Parts: sequence; C-alpha cells; structure tokens
Amino acid sequence: MKDKIKRFLRNSHGMDRLSQHLYYLSIVFFVISLFTKSNILRILSLIGLFISLFRSLSQKHFKRTKEDLLYTKYYNKVVARVKVFWLNIKHFKTHKYVVCKSCNQQLRIPKKQGKVIVTCSRCRNKFEVKS
Ligand SMILES: [Zn+2]
Repeated sequence: MKDKIKRFLRNSHGMDRLSQHLYYLSIVFFVISLFTKSNILRILSLIGLFISLFRSLSQKHFKRTKEDLLYTKYYNKVVARVKVFWLNIKHFKTHKYVVCKSCNQQLRIPKKQGKVIVTCSRCRNKFEVKS
C-alpha cells in the first residue's frame, strides 16, 4: 500500500504554474469570502482548490503540460503588457514602450518622432508605431 502511494505521487504531474496560480487565486477568494461572507466566493475557492489538486495529482503529463503551456503563453502576454503600461507611465516624457506582437519583447522608442517602423531586436518582426 505504501509503495503504491509512493509510486502514485512519484508519477503525478506536480505543481505547475497554472496549478499554483489556481491555488493562490483560491486562497484569495477564500480570504475575501471570510470578510464578505459570500458563498459564491467560497464555492469558487473550493472549485479552484479542487482543480489545482486534481492537476497536481494527475497522471496525464502530456495533457497537463499542454494546458500549462497554453496558460503560460497568455500569462506572459498579460505580464508583458502590464510591465509596458507601468514603464509608459514612468517614462512618459522621454520614451514610449511597446510590445512585439509575435514574441512579447519589450521595445523602447523615443517620443515625438511621429510614425516609426520598429524592428524587434529578438525576432526581427517589423511594425509601425506612433511615438
Ligand atoms: Zn519580436
């Protein structure tokens, strides 16, 4: 019995980024539900915890990895845009920051140059931006 449990845990997928974020989101929902006494948030936190646990203990590595890669792709896009948003606020007088749509690379262009064609330093993608 002990060996079966050990083998099951050893072959499980483990905590990936999607499972971790679901877990953290569930905890946030649960804490908010304690203050607001909202049953919907409690149910959502339980569902999130269940899905996170299910994904972590799943034996289907390929399927879970595929889901995690899809999530990571969108997560990285959102993170890049949030970073660029804050950089644009911080350097609004001198530079404008943009994100390459094909590789999410941050690019900095000088302000007040009109329309410029930007070439991405990572993937060589060219696109027009108003600075
Ligand atoms: Zn690029």
